[in-house]
Amino acid sequence: MSRKIYHAIWLVALVVFLASLVCIMGVLYRYFTDVQMSQLESQTDLAAQGAALEGEDYFTGLTGARITWIAADGSVLYDSEANRDTMENHLQRQEVRQALENGSGNAVRYSSTLSERLLYCAKRLPDGSVIRLSTAQKTFWALLYDLAQPICLMILVALVLSLVLASRASARIVEPINSLNLDTPAAYVDQEEYREIAPLLRRMAQQQSQLKKDRAKLEQTAKIRQEFTANVSHELKTPLQSISGYAELLETGMVRPEDVKPFAGKIHREAQRMTKLVEDIIDLTKLDDGGSEMLPERTDLARIAENAVDSLRFAAEEAGVTLTLQKEPSEMVGIPQVLYSIVYNLCDNAIKYNVPDGRVEVSVKPQGDRIRLVVRDTGIGIPADAQERIFERFYRVDKSHSKEVGGTGLGLSIVKHGAKIHNAEISLSSAPGEGSTFTLDFPTEQEEL
Ligand code: ADP
Repeated sequence: MSRKIYHAIWLVALVVFLASLVCIMGVLYRYFTDVQMSQLESQTDLAAQGAALEGEDYFTGLTGARITWIAADGSVLYDSEANRDTMENHLQRQEVRQALENGSGNAVRYSSTLSERLLYCAKRLPDGSVIRLSTAQKTFWALLYDLAQPICLMILVALVLSLVLASRASARIVEPINSLNLDTPAAYVDQEEYREIAPLLRRMAQQQSQLKKDRAKLEQTAKIRQEFTANVSHELKTPLQSISGYAELLETGMVRPEDVKPFAGKIHREAQRMTKLVEDIIDLTKLDDGGSEMLPERTDLARIAENAVDSLRFAAEEAGVTLTLQKEPSEMVGIPQVLYSIVYNLCDNAIKYNVPDGRVEVSVKPQGDRIRLVVRDTGIGIPADAQERIFERFYRVDKSHSKEVGGTGLGLSIVKHGAKIHNAEISLSSAPGEGSTFTLDFPTEQEEL
């Protein structure tokens, strides 16, 4: 970059110098031509007066301009530098014609060699004849050629000077850029010497803070994943250990025949818990991908809730809990599998954490421009300090109770995640010993899922 700036400055300096040189010479050349012409005019005036008074004699001894005296018919009467007899008729010469017509005239003509210009000035005498003076002047290009040596010298000096200055200027321009600490671009934005690149610095600062945020987010996600993996391993290990323990006892034949059935039952329950855990993990993983594999569609949340409630009827009966559903057509845009998981997990919990002869009331109906899902139970309730945390993965208020009722600790994480994907709001009101009410408000239309 420094080299580029240096070349640019150098080139500009040189071009400006050469252009100014040519312009100045052109202007000076014109000026001196005008001066020469006006001198020639006054000389011609003098010569005309002299010739009128003294005739040809006046010219003898005069030096300087070439003098020609032309009769009114154009024939040359006298010429200070050529033989008048060999000279052609001058009637058609521009300055002579002008002088004959107007009293005076002048003209500029190039000589045959083109290296000289001739300035002519003519004046009519009272007797009708014309006195003409002419003087030679170098042409602009000839002058340039003559001055080639000093001009080359000047160019050389300018060249060296612009080389030195350009290198200094480019170094001065690049120096602040090189001394930038790119880790803190925002610190330079208000500094005078960085004013020109302030927009660039601002953009860099923005990108850096965005990168920092992205990195923090990535680290956070990685940490959550790691924790999740550790938790999953732990959760899987416990049932596996007890399955393995019971199976080993059965294998060794040390179990009394009447104990075989309860042992097999324990193995069965643990295996079921593992299956449920794996299913929940699969559900969560799908939601972690943003539900990208599942497509949103126009669907009726009331019908989905009906299916979920139906598949839990048996579990409710077993637990001695009355399960009811109140519904009105509730059309909305959503992912049916995810909506099903939400209702299923909420109802499953409401049954699991209920009391004998308890009730679970589910209702789905439109509420303003939203669809409201309410799952209310008369169960054990959730202490206030745990109400925030129950949506975390693997968090349980009472771990052993959760395990006893076949909980995985993932149900409400699935609910929370699913609600987020649908831009739904969750609220919970619960009191220990009284029961819990989960309310979810779904928008009916989705911009993008
Ligand atoms: P789990 O598989 O243990 O039920 P969840 O994520 O579904 O996991 O719930 C987390 C915890 O929240 C449960 O262990 C339980 O302690 C509490 N919980 C959830 N729903 C209810 C409810 N309806 N009544 C009382 N406690 C509940």
